[in-house]
Amino acid sequence: QFITFEGGEGVGKSTNIEFCRRLLEQQGIDVIVTREPGGTEIAEIIRDELLKKPHNERMSDVAELLLVFAARAQHIEALVKPALERGCWVLCDRFTDSTIAYQGYGRGLKLETINQLKTIAQLGIEPDKTFLLDAPIDVGMGRAKARGPADRFEIEQLDFFSRVREGFLAIAKNSPQRVCVINAAQELSQVQIDLKSAIEQRVLE
Ligand code: C5P
Repeated sequence: QFITFEGGEGVGKSTNIEFCRRLLEQQGIDVIVTREPGGTEIAEIIRDELLKKPHNERMSDVAELLLVFAARAQHIEALVKPALERGCWVLCDRFTDSTIAYQGYGRGLKLETINQLKTIAQLGIEPDKTFLLDAPIDVGMGRAKARGPADRFEIEQLDFFSRVREGFLAIAKNSPQRVCVINAAQELSQVQIDLKSAIEQRVLE
């Protein structure tokens, strides 16, 4: 199974992915955890470029979109697809829903363009299940800030992040079978109770 985790800044994706990894491993499932952009040597180099503190020139929105998909193409072909083929479960921190939310809803690029690139990059691979960790942006931004100085993306305006959140919620609404929304504004222990029951009911069923 290919399971993706989505959400805005500081919603607790890493902590909760580790929680899910342990949960699945306790069931005897072979699991790998990876992330996007990144996950392989080449894809991580692309990630570094994407997240660099401001370059001397502004990265164009289209260049950003193409780099995100270049990283994804590499990640799918070199890591995700082979892992799924040998029966391993793949837990991925962000996937194409992030591209729709950030580059589509956030930066205003056409969803049609994103879908075309998706067809080229994903080799037919789609997430079986997606957990959207959702929190109001002030909650997430507060947590992300506490973790250190803002990166290139985090310097963006609050309304950018509101559009991103709106994008994620729209995706969840359009794909209710695949996407399970978890209220990430709750205490971590409650978030994990919710995640555990969602995994038991919607993934391990
Ligand atoms: O997953 P993580 O929160 O570490 O993501 C790193 C950064 O990359 C985030 O700040 C996010 O805003 C940005 N990003 C993006 N577009 C994507 C994926 C991630 O702007 N498609």
